[in-house]
Amino acid sequence: MSERQFYIDPSRCIGCNACVAACAECDTHAGVSMIHLETIEREDSVQTTPVICMHCEEPACAMVCPSDAIKRTPDGVVQTSLKPRCIGCTNCVYACPFGVPKYEAAIDQMMKCDMCYDRTSVGKKPMCATVCPSQALMYGTPEEIAEQRSGTPINEFVFGSRTIRTKVNLMVPQGQKRLEVKAGATIRRSDLLTSSRLG
Ligand code: SF4
Ligand code: SF4
Repeated sequence: MSERQFYIDPSRCIGCNACVAACAECDTHAGVSMIHLETIEREDSVQTTPVICMHCEEPACAMVCPSDAIKRTPDGVVQTSLKPRCIGCTNCVYACPFGVPKYEAAIDQMMKCDMCYDRTSVGKKPMCATVCPSQALMYGTPEEIAEQRSGTPINEFVFGSRTIRTKVNLMVPQGQKRLEVKAGATIRRSDLLTSSRLG
């Protein structure tokens, strides 16, 4: 059996916010959730999707940090900012193509999802994946995903001339190999939701 990976499946998100609440419960950042929900095509749909850090292979957030406060572990998990180093400049907030880092004014520090490294580094599921009732956030093997889901996992995203590869996978309609995000364009539900939900 292969190693477990993290999958986001927007088609399964029911907007319950259990993942957001569970994230806030974590001992390492008590009371503050490092993830949030977004609405897809807000003008004509209530469909939501969880937004977690994608753990980019070449993280823009870390590249633009002037104080080297964002570290990437050898196994590819991009950590939240180090308190003694973060100067609260918000460069990372603007640089992330996925809209993940949040500036917490109360502590003058950026905080973001670190894939519950205290848990996943010892073989446990991230908190959000543990509570998600519809498994829109799933921590499992590629074999389990292939057996249980109708979509295809991708981890390649094209933003203009730049291609970003991520540790986290996004489930998209079958046949898609990457997600292309055009400047000024909206991500449509058909880009993200698998055929079982769209039909
Ligand atoms: S998704 Fe954003 S916050 Fe996460 S590693 Fe990539 S650039 Fe950094
Ligand atoms: S807000 Fe903190 S972590 Fe983000 S770029 Fe500035 S110093 Fe680095």
